[in-house]
Amino acid sequence: MAGAPAAGVPAASPRSWSLRLDGARCDGHGICAVCCPEHISLDDWGYAVTSSSPLREGERSLARARRAVTACPAHALALVPAPQRGGTRTNPEHTPPSRRDPALPERMA
Ligand code: SF4
Repeated sequence: MAGAPAAGVPAASPRSWSLRLDGARCDGHGICAVCCPEHISLDDWGYAVTSSSPLREGERSLARARRAVTACPAHALALVPAPQRGGTRTNPEHTPPSRRDPALPERMA
């Protein structure tokens, strides 16, 4: 449907947002880090690492984060409402494989 937001991309809101990464889905394409380098980096294995900094309406970085969510071919990223008073929304199941098992071998260059 024309004009409808893509999955994981909120239409509009007066609140702050946080990037949520589903590490189980992340395949390490790296497109997200190109789209939004100020909030997404890649670990040593090429998997995404998101910052916990809130993204506020009207900021350019929120537009870039939306672009990253839309561009992710694995649908591993989403924008969720930022925590209101401190705290974080972490889910151990959303931890990238490289962080769950530090014994994973490094990628061959
Ligand atoms: S979050 Fe998506 S675009 Fe970013 S590295 Fe993972 S699979 Fe690739």
